Amino acid sequence: MSLVVVGSVALDTVETVMGTRERVLGGAACFFSVAAAELTDVKLVGVVGDDFPEEHEQTLASRGVDMAGLQRSPGRTFHWHGRYSEDYSSRESLATELGVFAGFSPDLPVAFRAARTLFLANIHPELQADVCRQMDDPRLIGCDTMDFWINGEPKALARTLSMVHLLTINDEEARLLSGEHNLVRAAQGIMAMGPRHLVIKRGEHGALLFSGDEVFALPALPLETVVDPTGAGDTFAGGMLGWLDSVQEVDGPALRRGVAYGIAAASFNVAHFSLEGLLAADREAFERRMERLRELVRF
Ligand code: AMP
Repeated sequence: MSLVVVGSVALDTVETVMGTRERVLGGAACFFSVAAAELTDVKLVGVVGDDFPEEHEQTLASRGVDMAGLQRSPGRTFHWHGRYSEDYSSRESLATELGVFAGFSPDLPVAFRAARTLFLANIHPELQADVCRQMDDPRLIGCDTMDFWINGEPKALARTLSMVHLLTINDEEARLLSGEHNLVRAAQGIMAMGPRHLVIKRGEHGALLFSGDEVFALPALPLETVVDPTGAGDTFAGGMLGWLDSVQEVDGPALRRGVAYGIAAASFNVAHFSLEGLLAADREAFERRMERLRELVRF
């Protein structure tokens, strides 16, 4: 078992009603890796500048993430600055400074290419396709994207979607990608583009899984305190793909349990800033959250 993830490694400045954190560890690949590493062996591919603190790399490595695919380039690390509305229903990107991420050209270490599972976090769809081509023969390719690529690079995105098995996107992105408001019809349209399995992430409302004729839904865990939702979607994908890689199955029961691991992982993430909540959660804590989820939906 092993799982390669390609995506942003960032320094984030985040403002929420619960406070502000400046230039803390973020980026889709980091949230994904830390969640998945609790369940399987994870290898990260990304780029940082010479301002990226050594301690962040050590934090990821101490969680068991293989950092051999992290490139260090002269220049600044990708910096994102976001501010959430008081009720967390929306967020504003105040700055997206690409730095060395602008010239990112993923180059997978040879030892990464035989991995059985690949996750393409939100980067240019042409880079996502290029990474697919560098892999030997992954059994499961997962993918994320965002409105910027759906609107700006539809042809490249269509090529990438024809290569992936599982797409994880949020409800607004699903509507934009398919041109359908109804999520069931949106899912049918998206699956006709390539992915056999689709997860539509719905924030505090949980997630919807579509796979063949099957539909499965789980709510998010109701939480007393939300501090910082940044990276919740990437964390969800880390929990789900981490589980699928660990069991080496992509059938209905594995996919459903994968959704539950994704929701459990995201519940740790949103209750703290940056990666603090995830880093404090061990496998036992994951299993306790899984138990709470089962209890939540049992009737
Ligand atoms: P999410 O909350 O799931 O959208 O993920 C937020 C994370 O994505 C933050 O840690 C950011 O550093 C990172 N991020 C923000 N904008 C981009 C972008 N354009 N490309 C890649 N990663 C980004």
